[in-house]
Amino acid sequence: MRKGLVAANWKMNGLSQSNDALLDAIISGLKVVELPEGAQAETLICPPAIYLQQVREKLEGSWIQLGGQNVHPAKSGAFTGEISAGMLSDTGCTHVIIGHSERRELFGETDRFIAEKFSAAQSCNLIPVLCVGETQAQREAGSTAETVLGQLYAVLGHAGIDAFKQAIIAYEPVWAIGTGLTASPDQAQEVHSLIRKTISEQDESVGEQIRIIYGGSVKAANAATLFAQPDIDGALVGGASLVAEEFVSICASFAG
Ligand code: PEP
Repeated sequence: MRKGLVAANWKMNGLSQSNDALLDAIISGLKVVELPEGAQAETLICPPAIYLQQVREKLEGSWIQLGGQNVHPAKSGAFTGEISAGMLSDTGCTHVIIGHSERRELFGETDRFIAEKFSAAQSCNLIPVLCVGETQAQREAGSTAETVLGQLYAVLGHAGIDAFKQAIIAYEPVWAIGTGLTASPDQAQEVHSLIRKTISEQDESVGEQIRIIYGGSVKAANAATLFAQPDIDGALVGGASLVAEEFVSICASFAG
């Protein structure tokens, strides 16, 4: 059975005081979430880089994991403003988000650059959370599968199938991110199953064990029906992760 994962992407939100309050509420809320016997779900919080240290201190002693929102592929050097995988790892991160659509669209990140980030993260023992997803126009043009698989193949071609033993994939339809529009459980399941099948074609056991989480306006009200799909192993949550009750309740949805 695959472990669930509910990951929070705070994006560029929060200040130290509000972070403390949010974390206090999440930590105390999650303590009261009782998962049924045998059910397993991990929680991950990805704050802005400048607050990683603050969040790490706050999370000490809890089972919540810490992740970066971005990483540069180089080990070190003249890359003003960038953060290396080694730095994330040194600060206590276990994961890093790679290829988020905001990075692809707003910062011009290419499939090749994203693939390099993926390998750089793994070289420092970080688990990459690789985001893939189509735009509204691509969905309407019938090219959802081609787009998502193209993004996946770019990393598979660069890193190889074995690298996916230690990776998470986040299917995030761009049209559903921050818009309030959520892919229906069937729409999401269709793409998740396609991603799993594609990975299984290269290595059946990797396809079976890899976690594929869904992102795009996940909230307390829709989490349970998404999580009920056989190939949806959790969620990458943006807006709703900034509201403690929403986030805790999404995590609790894993309890079914
Ligand atoms: C995201 O940024 O990864 C995301 C899924 O955002 P939201 O939940 O706000 O749609």
